[in-house]
Amino acid sequence: MANGFNWQCPHCQRHVTITDTITGNATILRLANAEGRRTLNTTFIVCPNPECLKFSLNAMLYESEWRAGEERLLKPIKSWALIPPSSAKVFPEYIPQPLLDDYTEACLIRNDSPKASATLARRCLQGIIRDFWAVKPGRLVDEIEAIKEKTDPLTWAAIDTVRQVGNIGAHMEKDINLIVDVDPNEAELLINLIETLFQDWYVNREERKKRLEAIVDMGAEKAEARAQKNQ
Ligand SMILES: [Zn+2]
Repeated sequence: MANGFNWQCPHCQRHVTITDTITGNATILRLANAEGRRTLNTTFIVCPNPECLKFSLNAMLYESEWRAGEERLLKPIKSWALIPPSSAKVFPEYIPQPLLDDYTEACLIRNDSPKASATLARRCLQGIIRDFWAVKPGRLVDEIEAIKEKTDPLTWAAIDTVRQVGNIGAHMEKDINLIVDVDPNEAELLINLIETLFQDWYVNREERKKRLEAIVDMGAEKAEARAQKNQ
């Protein structure tokens, strides 16, 4: 571990090198049971990015055996991302909570239940369009059409592409809450689109606002300094 390993923080999405900010524990199932000997490894990793410093917690279950004086891990059986849960990226809190909740849950169940995942993702997409562009509520397909002229062409192209894909596209024209048969790839496509829109619309708007406010603040300080000098 001395040289560290590369790792992408699920909180800040930075690629970082982990050297000493990792700690873990093993819990061994030594009791006789129907499945055999097991070891559960739990691992904490703290992101070394000074602006993040958040921890992630994962658990991995292995078949194991006691041999030559030590517990040896055989094959991995299952792994869980505990914090943050699932592959959901962590987005800033200024994005409305109901949208973040739908997105996170859609990620959480993407593989186990793509149908339910895609349904949540469609509702999230509609929520984004209504919240960010204040469009008149209607069918999702009409709401998307209503923002065509307002969005940048590349973002629109991404939305349009997803709209044309398989069952997702077909059912944007129907009731949003209808559960449609989709495979995990289609659900993933919708989730990727939502991530792009969170980034392109909410995060970019906030960052632009921060940049402009910094300029205004700097200007105000300069003006104040000049006024004091002239007194
Ligand atoms: Zn981080």
